[in-house]
Amino acid sequence: MWNSPKVGILGGGQLGRMLVESCNRLNIQANVLDAENSPAKQISFHDGHVTGSFKEREAVRQLAKSCDVMTAEIEHVDTYALEEVASQVRVEPSWQAIRTIQNKFNQKEHLRKYGIPMADHRELVENTPEELARVGEQLGYPMMLKSKTMAYDGRGNFRVNSKADIPEALETLKDRPLYAEKWAYFKMELAVMVIKTKDEVLSYPTVETVQEDSICKLVYAPARNVPEAINEQAQALARKAVSAFEGKGAFGVEMFLLEDNSLMLCELASRIHNSGHYTIEGCALSQFDSHIRAIMDLPIPAKSLEIRQPSVMLNIIGGATPDSHLKAAEYALSIPNASIHLYSKGAAKPGRKMGHITVTAGTMHEAETMIQPLVDVVDEMRA
Ligand code: ATP
Ligand code: MG
Ligand code: MG
Repeated sequence: MWNSPKVGILGGGQLGRMLVESCNRLNIQANVLDAENSPAKQISFHDGHVTGSFKEREAVRQLAKSCDVMTAEIEHVDTYALEEVASQVRVEPSWQAIRTIQNKFNQKEHLRKYGIPMADHRELVENTPEELARVGEQLGYPMMLKSKTMAYDGRGNFRVNSKADIPEALETLKDRPLYAEKWAYFKMELAVMVIKTKDEVLSYPTVETVQEDSICKLVYAPARNVPEAINEQAQALARKAVSAFEGKGAFGVEMFLLEDNSLMLCELASRIHNSGHYTIEGCALSQFDSHIRAIMDLPIPAKSLEIRQPSVMLNIIGGATPDSHLKAAEYALSIPNASIHLYSKGAAKPGRKMGHITVTAGTMHEAETMIQPLVDVVDEMRA
């Protein structure tokens, strides 16, 4: 048996909280670095947590002293701090992987060398209207202007429909490092959770994600009406992309399925991912279980990553009032087969992920039918 290992987690939001749930079931102590009373700390009582931010060098040093292996629930961490402590503690995935991935432009430049298909893109260096207009001529309209760094939930993206949108796009994003992407005319968005272990690259089945205002709203696992060949090709593409990075653990890979059934990578994350929440109820090992096992070199039977029952996951996002997410959760209490996850983040802000609900059933149609009334409730409470 393992000898009371301790995992250090940078970040104690909902992803950290669900990692702690997995650690708790294996008697693994998870030391969380984040603000006091962050969602992950609320469910883990011991004196090993560190108060501070995953962007503070000193706080990361302190966490490194108290754990055997360190990981992160978010890619926007101080990778220079991780580089420094990597001589004292194992860091998974590697700080190099996190550093490259946290800058979406560098991530894509790196993946290009491995032949991963992606939307054509151009770096901006001046962030001026003239420069963006030149890029617009090369990529065509619409195009997506994107922040290279600190992007999440579409905060960092601006759809530029024509030259006329350039001033507003730059007004919104000009203080950030930028690149622009050719529009991807996808018929569906797909995602695959990849688990990199010490000697294998495993994947969960391909799921379908639905984004609303660039925020993930629904996940269908497995993806609906997607032929087996595409399910396999998407998993293979995701594994190939993740193989381009050093280190162990879960990686979330987002892809576009185009009209001609070809696949393109949208982006990847060096961590557990919203598109993999369905695995908690849908699979024998959740993405959080697998991540912890991977970073601790514990066995992961590939069969445990298969989907046991079709699942639909719905995000509960902060709505018009501070408690609208609670109304959605309350409604979900009466839905058969619905598992409710509230993240205990306090008062909701519009657009903030406050929880999620997963419904599993014998068939996808059944799962969809059971969750539909809840989707309607969530649609009504939107800000
Ligand atoms: P996340 O919360 O997943 O980290 P993010 O803020 O990093 O998101 P992206 O994943 O790059 O942003 O984009 C968010 C969504 O915007 C995508 O899921 C897709 O719906 C849309 N999108 C992004 N790039 C393009 C593109 N080139 N063409 C068309 N739509 C796009
Ligand atoms: Mg992203
Ligand atoms: Mg994304």
